[in-house]
Amino acid sequence: MPIYQFFKRKWLLRQPFPENRLKILESKVPVYRKLPQHYRETLKKRMVIFLDEKRFEGCGGLTITDQIKTVIAAYASVLILEETADYYSGLQSILVYPDDYMAPVYEEGEGGVITEGYEHRKGEYWGAGNIVLSWSDIEENLYESDDGQNLIYHEFSHLLDDRYGLTAGIDEEGKPLRDDEWTHIMAGSFRKLQRRAYERRKSALDLYGAQNPAELFSVATEAFFEKPDELHRENPDLYRMLNNFYKLDPLRWMG
Ligand SMILES: [Zn+2]
Repeated sequence: MPIYQFFKRKWLLRQPFPENRLKILESKVPVYRKLPQHYRETLKKRMVIFLDEKRFEGCGGLTITDQIKTVIAAYASVLILEETADYYSGLQSILVYPDDYMAPVYEEGEGGVITEGYEHRKGEYWGAGNIVLSWSDIEENLYESDDGQNLIYHEFSHLLDDRYGLTAGIDEEGKPLRDDEWTHIMAGSFRKLQRRAYERRKSALDLYGAQNPAELFSVATEAFFEKPDELHRENPDLYRMLNNFYKLDPLRWMG
């Protein structure tokens, strides 16, 4: 980390958390009310740095508001409450579209998630390291906070996967290529979800995760934070792995 960034972060953390953002947190971010007090304080610290270091860009006519920035920063910060992952340091910009039709139909590129919508901007100033989100999908998730779906958790967990190679040890068929507990449990959970999807049976995990191991990790992250009890009942080993990775135990605060 460059030295100026180190001091900038230190300085930022000494500033009071802005009143208007606190109001948005309290009224528009359901997870904030559920977090234990000490995590609320940590969340605000993570958000202050996140908001300072990431750029938000409204696309398709969307104007970025404080509410949009606060909601996205809050959920992205839940994932890094304990392990900062250097605040998603590879990520520079968050592109937000108003609606579904621009929703991320992505392919993963080096250093970030590249979307179809992003394709025609390839030659412009924005390099890799972008994330694309649809605001209407985010809002929908917010008001149904127990449906196990959360686009922000989903996309940001892809960044963590890329950063740490979390699913790199599993092939597309779900065969583990590494011999460690994490890989075995992730691979086993992936194959289990594929079977469920094939048999059209429900799961605590969104069946979309049966696409490939990277999607499994992201839908598992969504379930872990949004309906931890269901995930824990269905697949306690997977819950334990995510608990180890995030160093968080949402079972204790989501109820
Ligand atoms: Zn995904």
